Amino acid sequence: MEPHPTIQSPIAAPQCLHLSRSGQRCQRPAFEDGFCELHGRDAVWRFNTAARRRLFAVLLGAAILWPILVDLYRAIRHLRH
Ligand SMILES: [Zn+2]
Repeated sequence: MEPHPTIQSPIAAPQCLHLSRSGQRCQRPAFEDGFCELHGRDAVWRFNTAARRRLFAVLLGAAILWPILVDLYRAIRHLRH
């Protein structure tokens, strides 16, 4: 019995065209421009959008939690007196 040739992807899903410094092909699925979300022409913009969203979420979380934390801090101080 001959071993079957390894079929990597029967449905030719587009793969990122980016090559790493060691020459390895990026494994992420590509968008229509041929690159993934990290390596596209607008990769910086994509990253910044994600980072901005994360920063906004953190700030929003802090804004929501801040009064609760202050109340908690005051309650603890009050209890210790
Ligand atoms: Zn990539």
